[in-house]
Amino acid sequence: MSFVEVFKKLSRSELKLRLYSCTAADVEQALQGASGNLDSLLALLSPAAQPYLEQMAQQAVTLTRQRFGASIGMYIPLYLSNLCANECDYCGFTMSNKIKRKTLSNDEVLDEMRLIKTMGYDSILLVSGEHETKVGIDYFKQVLPLVREQFSHVAMEVQPLGEQDYRELVASGLDAVMLYQETYNPETYSKHHTRGKKKDFIFRLESPDRVARAGVDKIGLGVLLGLDDWRLDALLMGHHIDYLEKTYWRSRYSISLPRLRPCTGGISPKVELTDKGLVQMICAFRLFNQQLEISLSTRETPKLRDNLFALGVTNVSAGSSTQPGGYVEPNTELDQFEISDGRTPQVVAKAMLERGLNPVWKDWETGW
Ligand code: SF4
Repeated sequence: MSFVEVFKKLSRSELKLRLYSCTAADVEQALQGASGNLDSLLALLSPAAQPYLEQMAQQAVTLTRQRFGASIGMYIPLYLSNLCANECDYCGFTMSNKIKRKTLSNDEVLDEMRLIKTMGYDSILLVSGEHETKVGIDYFKQVLPLVREQFSHVAMEVQPLGEQDYRELVASGLDAVMLYQETYNPETYSKHHTRGKKKDFIFRLESPDRVARAGVDKIGLGVLLGLDDWRLDALLMGHHIDYLEKTYWRSRYSISLPRLRPCTGGISPKVELTDKGLVQMICAFRLFNQQLEISLSTRETPKLRDNLFALGVTNVSAGSSTQPGGYVEPNTELDQFEISDGRTPQVVAKAMLERGLNPVWKDWETGW
């Protein structure tokens, strides 16, 4: 059993029809108590919820503060490699892009970590392109213990792995895995993923099940907003989280809501998600799920990020480089995507403190 069976029973056309025919009464009912209710999530993501944004935001702030206090978890990505055996037309690392490819050696990883440590971080996200042979499980098994020695929380955003691989990485200190479906529309998915293992929509869709079965503490899902109808993609991601939480209740869950950003040779968004739309989505998820961690990257502008910090977001990156070796030697030519918020972590932390929020430079630490 995996989410694939659940997904196959969902009718895209029916969900879409319901999303776009929601009424004010449906939204008002959802606002009475959306917790754990997928029908309420649908109503809150619908166009009919737009006039209720203020009310949704007030509830989202209250629920976030009740569950997470005034804390915002700070994390930073460390790009290990930009090698990739896939063709994804929205990404600077796509196989056919003629960019300089690089995979960090152990010494280079240590150099990058030394610099990151001076910024104050104790929570790190290891990122790489998807290249099974050159940047596969053996490489991760070699790098992870080095990283674990210096950071109390280690997350990974790499290609989907096998269940046994995840188990071994958990034993070496892996805390979290981020695995983004990009879009839940199989047709759109195949249009944007034209070569390599990532072409397999179903394999990717069932991957979070393997991560959860391997006992990973935190699992992150995400869609790349702009590839398809964001309301429907968000709703289907809600179904995915609902299934995972009920099936694998020992893990924590997080979502990431990246909007498509320009990159070398990349495409423009097909469906634009406005700032207001992004706010609606964050609030809808918070009202639907009070435990859910919501992560915000440096893809968004400083002004928008500062406003979103208080709303429902729980984890924030700052001072990020999106290229391997980029902390020691910045070189934007190797970037995976363009960054909008280039402020230092200290400046971002100050903006949080001014809003009564506490930046916390680590994630949860395993106590036993
Ligand atoms: S999105 Fe991931 S898999 Fe696709 S090209 Fe970029 S790094 Fe490779």
